[in-house]
Amino acid sequence: FAALAQPGIRALKAYDPGHDLVALRRRSGAGLVELGANENPYGPSPLALAAARDALDSAHRYPDPLGGELRQALAARLGVAPAQLLLGNGSHELLMQFAQVFAGPGAGVAMSQYGFAVYALAAQATGAPLRIAPALPAGHAMARGHDVDALLAAAGTDTRLLYLANPNNPTGTWIGADALARLLERLPPEVLVVVDEAYAEFVDAPDYASALSLLPRYRNLAVTRTFSKAHALAGLRIGYAVADAALVAVMERLRESFNVSAVALAAATATLQDRAHLQRGVDANARERVQLAEALRARGRFVHPSQTNFLLVGFGDATATVEAALLARGVVVRPMGGYGLADCLRISVGTAEENARLLRALDGAGA
Ligand code: PMP
Repeated sequence: FAALAQPGIRALKAYDPGHDLVALRRRSGAGLVELGANENPYGPSPLALAAARDALDSAHRYPDPLGGELRQALAARLGVAPAQLLLGNGSHELLMQFAQVFAGPGAGVAMSQYGFAVYALAAQATGAPLRIAPALPAGHAMARGHDVDALLAAAGTDTRLLYLANPNNPTGTWIGADALARLLERLPPEVLVVVDEAYAEFVDAPDYASALSLLPRYRNLAVTRTFSKAHALAGLRIGYAVADAALVAVMERLRESFNVSAVALAAATATLQDRAHLQRGVDANARERVQLAEALRARGRFVHPSQTNFLLVGFGDATATVEAALLARGVVVRPMGGYGLADCLRISVGTAEENARLLRALDGAGA
């Protein structure tokens, strides 16, 4: 059937989760250390779980198609109008939707090398020409991070959409407020810039600024965020985009009527009330990220700078062997061959205990 698929779809590969986690869990039971998917190891707020359970009582009813209550709560939190918010079944859905609405043959997409894989997929699915800007070199202080000048050079006259994750997955790197402002200042207004801030809550670098603060200045800017990471609701699938109300209105034309479940809406609305839970998780991640990076560097490994809840770690020629040895010891991490980073593993920052198990497994494997 591939030959019957639309041209943009023919060359695509289906999402590869890396491991059969269901089988691994069955084999290892509770002992499996899951550091492969940048999930939040501390779990959701109890308020979110209670709200999700309550929402089940109305499982026979469709959810609020507009997610009004959540949009109100988010708008109040972010200092924007509810009409500037669009909810998605995970931010993944919204990232795809931006391409469906704004990209296509003759309406190209630009992104950075090592940028989040969904951007290329979204572009190719629409038949849009894709321009990939080379990343900063591995030897740069912001190893393999976005190069704003290269992005500006890559955006051609046919470019209509530019995706930029800040901080980025899988590198963990970020661009500072000055670089982001320069990018937006230099791009023409007909290029829509989607800044993907899936990991923004984890950032503590003083040179970083969320693109949310630039929204009043640039109508061609959209920011996506997710409840999957810092809010620990990955299994419920909910994210959001913030943009000019007129842009959101155009995106609404293609939104599935009931794209976010009632359970997800309830949990996300409740989690916003539990700022203390969010802060505890963010603080623990910041502490563990520093310690884990230090421990890996002390073992001679190259750790890319990270402002996220994961580390991209160089293992050179030993990468595949190390990955297999970790898996044999019940520790799941993410191989990066699909990103052209076959000499690296992406390791989520776990709890102190999980990180200790990872380090023991590395030492046990002689890695
Ligand atoms: N953007 C980035 C940079 C990500 O790493 C991820 C998840 N891995 C997503 C978006 C999508 O997250 P979700 O669909 O769970 O909101």
